[in-house]
Amino acid sequence: MTHSPLPDPPGADLGRVRDWVREAVQLSRPIAVLTGAGMSAESGVPTFRDALTGLWAQFRPEELATEAAFRDRPQQVWDWYASRRAAVAGVEPNAGHRALATFQAREPGRLTLITQNVDGLHQAAGSPGVLALHGNLAEDRWLDSPRACCDASVAAGTLTDACPPACPACGNLRRPAVVWFGEFLPEQALRDAETAARTCALMLVVGTSGAVYPAAGLAFTAHQAGARVVVVNPEPSELDPVADVVLRGTAATLLPALLAP
Ligand code: NAD
Repeated sequence: MTHSPLPDPPGADLGRVRDWVREAVQLSRPIAVLTGAGMSAESGVPTFRDALTGLWAQFRPEELATEAAFRDRPQQVWDWYASRRAAVAGVEPNAGHRALATFQAREPGRLTLITQNVDGLHQAAGSPGVLALHGNLAEDRWLDSPRACCDASVAAGTLTDACPPACPACGNLRRPAVVWFGEFLPEQALRDAETAARTCALMLVVGTSGAVYPAAGLAFTAHQAGARVVVVNPEPSELDPVADVVLRGTAATLLPALLAP
C-alpha cells in the first residue's frame, strides 16, 4: 500500500502498475499472478463466502471442506460440492481471465499463473501451465487408497449411484478432487509457485481474501524477496499490508487495463 497521508487517485496507481508490467516485459523480468475466488466472481461463480447462501447459509466453509466433515456427513458435503459444480457448469472466463491468457500468449514464459480456484476458468481461457494449488472441482478421486475392486468398478462403470458414489465391493467413496482444509497441496505445483514467488519482480494478487494458507503466504514470500506486490480487490483483504499498491477494483475491469500492450 502507498503510505502517504493523501493517497494517490486510483488512476495514478493504475498507471504506476501498468508501468511496472511494461518494465518487467522490457527488462525480461518474471511476473507472478496469484488469483482467488474473486477472479471468477464476474463470471458468475460465487466466492467461498457467497457460495454458502440459501440452504448452506448456516455453515462455514471450514465446516464442510474437510476430510473429517466428509467422513462424518458424506452426503451433505457431496451435495454442497454438487451445488458448487452446478454453479460453475456453463460459466465462461471473463475479461480478466482472457487478459491474462492474452498476455501469456504475447509474452511466452514471462508470467506464472498461480490459482487457488478450482473452477478451471483460467485453463478454459487458454492460460498455459496454470498452477492449480487447490485442485479441480470437475474431478473426483478415491477417498481411501483404491483397491483392485475400486479400479475394476470404475473400469466396468459399476460405481453405486449414491451421493457420493462408492465402490460396490468395498464401499470406498469417491470424493471431489479438491484440496480440503488441513490437506497438503499438490507438491510440485506448490514448489513451482514458491519458486515463482521468490524470483518474480512483480506479483499481482487478484481476488483473494488472503485468509487461506499456504497460498496467501506466497504474497509474503514475494514481498520479502523484494518483488513489487499489487493487490487487485474491490474490498480490503488480509494481503493489503504487504502490497506496494492496492487497486480497489475488479479483476475483469483492472486486468485488461494493466496487461494491455
Ligand atoms: P474468498 O471467497 O475468501 O475471497 C474472495 C475475495 O475476492 C474477497 O477478498 C473479495 O473481496 C474479492 N472479490 C470479490 N469480487 C471480486 C472481483 N470481481 N474482482 C476481484 N476481487 C473480488 O476466496 P479465496 O481468497 O480464493 O479463498 C477461499 C478458497 O475458496 C480458495 O481456497 C479457493 O480454492 C476456494 N474457492 C474457489 C472458487 C473458484 O474456483 N471460483 C470459488 C469459491 C471458493
